[in-house]
Amino acid sequence: MGSHTTLTRKKGVYTSLVSGLLFPIHEYLKRHGSVSARKQLEKTQWWSRAQIEQLQLDRLQRLLSHAQAHVPYYRTLFAEIDFKPTAIKAMADLQKLPLLDKAKIRNHIDALKSENAYKLARFNTGGSSGEPLIFYIGNERVSHDVAAKWRATRWWGVDIGDPEIVVWGSPIELGTQDSLRALRDRLFRSKLLPAFEMSEQKLTLFLQEIRSHRPRMLFGYPSALSHIAHHADKVGMRMDDLGIQVAFVTSERLYDEQRQQISKTFGCAVANGYGGRDAGFIAHECPAGNMHITAEDIIVEIVDRDGAVLPMGESGEIVITHLASGDFPFIRYRTGDIGRLDNESCECGRGLPLLKEIQGRTTDFVVAQDGTVMHGLALIYILRNLPQISAFKILQESLDLTRVWIVSENTLDSTISEMIKHEFQARLGKAVNIVIEQVADIPVERSGKFRYVVSKVTPS
Ligand SMILES: [Zn+2]
Repeated sequence: MGSHTTLTRKKGVYTSLVSGLLFPIHEYLKRHGSVSARKQLEKTQWWSRAQIEQLQLDRLQRLLSHAQAHVPYYRTLFAEIDFKPTAIKAMADLQKLPLLDKAKIRNHIDALKSENAYKLARFNTGGSSGEPLIFYIGNERVSHDVAAKWRATRWWGVDIGDPEIVVWGSPIELGTQDSLRALRDRLFRSKLLPAFEMSEQKLTLFLQEIRSHRPRMLFGYPSALSHIAHHADKVGMRMDDLGIQVAFVTSERLYDEQRQQISKTFGCAVANGYGGRDAGFIAHECPAGNMHITAEDIIVEIVDRDGAVLPMGESGEIVITHLASGDFPFIRYRTGDIGRLDNESCECGRGLPLLKEIQGRTTDFVVAQDGTVMHGLALIYILRNLPQISAFKILQESLDLTRVWIVSENTLDSTISEMIKHEFQARLGKAVNIVIEQVADIPVERSGKFRYVVSKVTPS
């Protein structure tokens, strides 16, 4: 995928019908304002950084005034710290407010609801990526998040209504798979493959379904899509002749090798998205290869361990303020993810600021016996280059015990096992017990994600 890729816009009649009529009607019936929001976003993305910042500031003032007038939690907080929304003159003034974390949301779940919220939808993030959380989302936010996703889809020369394969596994979302949802999916030519059952036979079946559906876009976890791609290579099924334009991946860190695998097998570009149900649609990759922040709706701050804002370009925890979240405000919400802001402008010409080096969730990290926190990749590297190993999973049970599950066609010989133990101990500590277990296959997480590294140790 080069920065000079030109995307041909060959929109079919049906896609135009869906994108121009059916989806707007669907959104209208659900009382979402996503159609007008998207049209607005398609203009503002070309604005200068200064114009976008002014827009953020205006919306921030409005959000904070609303919070003071209608949200009990903020009314109390602002009174306690003597904060006046009208005193917000620059983005840095946001730092006068404390950070919001999951514990605070849990403790003030009712006081965080706006008194004049029209309709709140209850959500919870699965427990798979750390602490589970229950929170609420109002209609305005839904519209804005849908619009931001829709805009980013169109960056890649595809649109809602183009045939799509969705590889997803959240049992929560699949639970809502009622007949209405099925009809909606048929109308929008979106087909769901449940990612939590991925046996060899299932994988072959998935490939056949993809072939017969002939999607223009794929959507899913990078681990799941690369897993399917790898299987296609293994069984020698060709997948790069279907006209797939782009694979949208999200919810997990995207490793380079996964990007290459997906891109090679399906013969398409891979577009990374970053965000979550809780924090919103934070950033998305453009065809020039940069992650653009949905800056019209989301202010990103980068903070250090103590919550102090870091200078531009420095790496730290990503904190977001969602400007369309008046019904249940997310103001300075800690995502637990790591990244850095970048001042560069992008070749694509969009003024939306860039977010770089987004690093996985805290669960991507392991802790050595001496307390050193390191990225799970440090351990992944040891295993992934061994040809004898076809799949693996690392489970850090405690500071003293780490399990390594390995799938291999033949019994692992002792020199390899010893080498793995030695390398793991070199990183985690000499006294750590490394237990290697050869298994028939790696069970997928309940969420449908593949996690190469799971640590039960909390960094102190
Ligand atoms: Zn760009």
